[in-house]
Amino acid sequence: MESIQEVQDMTKTDTGVFELLLKDHHEQVLFCNDEDTGLKAIIAIHNTTLGPALGGTRMWQYATENDALIDVLRLSRGMTYKAAISGLNLGGGKAVIIGDSKKDKSEPLLRKFGRFVKNLNGKYITAEDVGIGTKDMEFVHMETKHVTGLPESLGGGGDPSPVTAYGVYLGMKASANFAWGSDGLHGKTVVVEGVGKVGRHLIQRLVKEGAKVYVTDINQEAIKNVTEKFDVTYVKPGEQFDVDMDIYAPCALGATVNDDTIPRLNCKVIAGAANNQLKKEKIHGPALLEKGVIYAPDFLINAGGLINVYSELEGYNRKKALNATENIYDVTSHILNKSREENIPTYLAAKIIAEKRIEDIKKVKSTF
Ligand code: NAD
Repeated sequence: MESIQEVQDMTKTDTGVFELLLKDHHEQVLFCNDEDTGLKAIIAIHNTTLGPALGGTRMWQYATENDALIDVLRLSRGMTYKAAISGLNLGGGKAVIIGDSKKDKSEPLLRKFGRFVKNLNGKYITAEDVGIGTKDMEFVHMETKHVTGLPESLGGGGDPSPVTAYGVYLGMKASANFAWGSDGLHGKTVVVEGVGKVGRHLIQRLVKEGAKVYVTDINQEAIKNVTEKFDVTYVKPGEQFDVDMDIYAPCALGATVNDDTIPRLNCKVIAGAANNQLKKEKIHGPALLEKGVIYAPDFLINAGGLINVYSELEGYNRKKALNATENIYDVTSHILNKSREENIPTYLAAKIIAEKRIEDIKKVKSTF
């Protein structure tokens, strides 16, 4: 998965649409235009070898339409890897609605979007993402049943964050086991960057296990919520990279592992929820390997949210979702071992395993 920087670099070139699709082997892209509601959306289906393409719908005011296309292509490809490495029978897809989520959202626009999703007949299943909330999904759901991430009252799984946090916690424990020969986090110093929905649940587990937790966030209200509730230490945003720590847990935004922070990060393990933590994976993945820092690939250990919505497809049960998330521990260990044996960055080891699964299942499906 490219970082934002790489994506921006790509948008500077005048690349044709089919050239972009060929580059990462996207199956299908649907441009949705509706003049009555003002809907402009793009649905990208990257790969459906393993199952229907599932991925959230993002609403964002992109600077250009090309930016929106690049983003949806990148995000849908990321979903293919996330589902494949997590052992789910799902493909990768994503949708973007171009517009300001605070001003441009309306019931007709969302329902019209739902109609476009419906017309894909289940090949794409949508969910929430940045700029789109549960209430919006209820409108989409009025037009199509191919929606996940619904509230519990509508048979959905509700907020997936606790399940995501559980997966991150297990990925962190597997990484600790790899680093120190024991997965106990008691006494370990962990810096949690971003104390939002996932960060908070992660902190709860860490504190319970006796870890020494440092927290940072740009939102003082969010900080207050955790410092009042848990025995944690606050560090100012920007200073988290200089804490003498065992584990760095990025749970805010992506690209925080980069040229500036890698030399400063004094940790043995990086394991967090944020997507695309490596600013440039081809540069920063090897840089971490070189430095001896164990990086638990984000798209694996934050897959609890996807596992949660996947379990909605078979009738939601939180316990089942949490059980399925436990697989993240073993898969993380497998990836870290492969990385060590082959001396390759962990993100690459994860991608190789994900791609192999897709290739293997393609063969399974080659006969009726
Ligand atoms: P959230 O919006 O609830 O929390 C993010 C927190 O990060 C906020 O409190 C915000 O103030 C803080 N933040 C933003 N910029 C920051 C900065 N520069 N420094 C410090 N703090 C900063 O989001 P969330 O649902 O907790 O998700 C956290 C991350 O995990 C996101 O990157 C998200 O994409 C990813 N993720 C979440 C889920 C899920 O189930 N919620 C699933 C997979 C991945």
